[in-house]
Amino acid sequence: MDQTSLFAPDSPSPAYICPFDQACSYLDAAAKELKLAQGVSEILSHPRKVVTVSIPVKRDNGEIQVLAGHRVQHSDILGPYKGGIRFHPAVTLREVSALAMLMTWKCALLGIPYGGAKGGIAINPKSYSISELERISRRYISELIKDIGPSVDIPAPDMGTSAREMAWMMDTYSVNMGHAVPGVVTGKPLSIGGSLGREMATGRGVMIIVREALADRGKSLSGTRIAIQGFGNVGGAAAELLHQAGAKIIAVSTGLGGVFAENGLDISELKAYARENNRKISGFPQAKLITNPELLTLPCDVLIPAALENQITQENVNQIQANLIVEAANGPVTLEANLSLEARGVTVLPDILSNAGGVVVSYLEWVQGLSYLFWDEERVNGEMESLMVQAYRKVMHQSQTRKISPRLAAYVLGVGRVAQALNDRGLYP
Ligand code: NAD
Repeated sequence: MDQTSLFAPDSPSPAYICPFDQACSYLDAAAKELKLAQGVSEILSHPRKVVTVSIPVKRDNGEIQVLAGHRVQHSDILGPYKGGIRFHPAVTLREVSALAMLMTWKCALLGIPYGGAKGGIAINPKSYSISELERISRRYISELIKDIGPSVDIPAPDMGTSAREMAWMMDTYSVNMGHAVPGVVTGKPLSIGGSLGREMATGRGVMIIVREALADRGKSLSGTRIAIQGFGNVGGAAAELLHQAGAKIIAVSTGLGGVFAENGLDISELKAYARENNRKISGFPQAKLITNPELLTLPCDVLIPAALENQITQENVNQIQANLIVEAANGPVTLEANLSLEARGVTVLPDILSNAGGVVVSYLEWVQGLSYLFWDEERVNGEMESLMVQAYRKVMHQSQTRKISPRLAAYVLGVGRVAQALNDRGLYP
């Protein structure tokens, strides 16, 4: 039985940090700060529904492989479940459960009427042809057909998926319903009801948070030295927008390693180079090769981890030189590392705030679809910016008044809002 199957082991190495335990620890800390009743935090520490399905897929060579696909619905107290679908070899049920919980707090923090969910399949999409990926996406969504829907659970892209997969999933759902249902997913292509601004939204939100945090320190983006781990949907967009705003992006990386230039990389040229070289960035002229561990410990003003979780840990935390870390990925800084950074006076702006631009524009896409009225990009970006800036200000205000870290402040706001709604709705039966 291979690693992609239903009963694959969850704990690949002794250094394994369980993402769900970490997510529950953050919830516990917020519950303590909010003095929540035991029953409330007990309810919120459990996902409402966990679905694992088998996905039999015919490979192009005729072989049949059976993959495991997960969808975890953490909470729908504030509205339909919302969360991405990840295609990545490290996907496990625990990881998906942790990410579903994070989505609940993120939507609550941003004040959008959604609950939290996440989905994933443990595959390396690069090992599959486009037609195999289409068969996997379609079968996955058809297995989940009774669990999703525009007012039930609305998937979106995450690592390893994009507008292309969302289009296949929307089509599969629609064919099964007998009519077009664009609202079943967000992050769709524009041709089927996607929103302008969605592709760059998470990176744009990261840029807004970095800009606001620098402004609070009396600084601007101009000339600020930034290192970014990950050059995909989120890292690539953040790099481009920060570069356009005058920041010096001194390093970026992919899973294969990174490139570094003391005086800053030309991000438009690097993007063009990556497009021409099958997404590879190594060999980019006028840049030195560096490893991912080296990138994280570079001397810089701002560090943006925009790839995977558990990248800044007890192992490397003492070598981190940035004094502002903006979490563009979900869970890139471990709980212990976060405490060490706080003790050293390093500010960590948490994922549930910093990478919320994507779900905000997903929400705006859903609103536009439901009202059959589509907005120009300026309006989409403006609405998103306003929600991101408001959330940033609320988090910093809570952090200052309660004398707690921005991470705990963000959790206090997110968890507090859900707990209030739970209290108001009451417990059935
Ligand atoms: P992506 O697949 O588009 O890009 C991921 C990037 O990380 C790629 O450049 C890849 O090469 C790199 N990478 C992969 N393994 C790596 C490794 N071991 N070390 C360093 N780099 C590695 O994914 P994405 O959509 O940009 O998502 C990145 C992160 O942001 C994830 O944690 C995701 O959950 C989070 N996120 C994404 C969105 C979104 O809208 N796509 C929204 C919120 C949060």
